[in-house]
Amino acid sequence: MYQKVSVLIIEDEKSICDFISKTLSGSDYKVVTASNGKDGLAAITSSLPDLVLLDLGLPDMDGIDIIKKTREWSSMPIIVISARTQEKEKVIALDAGADDYITKPFGTSELLARIRTAIRHNNKMANASVNSNRPYSADGLVIDFEKRLVTLGGQEIHLTRVEYKIVSLLAQHSGKVMTYDTLINQVWGPYADDNNRILRVNMANIRRKLETNPGEPKYIFTELGVGYRMLEDEGI
Ligand code: CA
Repeated sequence: MYQKVSVLIIEDEKSICDFISKTLSGSDYKVVTASNGKDGLAAITSSLPDLVLLDLGLPDMDGIDIIKKTREWSSMPIIVISARTQEKEKVIALDAGADDYITKPFGTSELLARIRTAIRHNNKMANASVNSNRPYSADGLVIDFEKRLVTLGGQEIHLTRVEYKIVSLLAQHSGKVMTYDTLINQVWGPYADDNNRILRVNMANIRRKLETNPGEPKYIFTELGVGYRMLEDEGI
């Protein structure tokens, strides 16, 4: 039986909620809405959506607490809807387990693309045991995790151990933003200096090796004040 993908929208601003609702229904999603945190949490457990769109500033609750509560038992994709001034909240939300964020005001195509990416990524994670060693491939860049080999247009790219670790982490989460702290923790361990400088230095070197124009990267994008996002795997 054909089943629509269901999305729960937790958002107290009616105009935004209506806009998203209409966009998603028009794209064949099943939509459930909640206008406060309490109803949102109840809807998460009762309707078990395929994805949650979550506003952080809710009248009765901080959206971060909804992420934390949900992550205690579920890995369902959560995309945070945030205002442009909430850089710090975005980082906290991602570190609490949100999958991605979208900044207000956003367009319909951006919203739909983010939703598709998050759902695809979640399915990929569910199949991880089958596909974990499949290479990353996007726009001429191929990363073979088994051979630890990076090629660009068929030419081998020589990366240091640290550079390779950063690139392979981003590639394994491609399409999604990884925060500076997450990357630093996973590359240098939990006791590393939380200063971003060493990460930025490594990223500059990586970009010199991978990008035709490091100032306008096409493989690894900077999410200002938050982290990095790698071009989504084409899944070939
Ligand atoms: Ca709000």
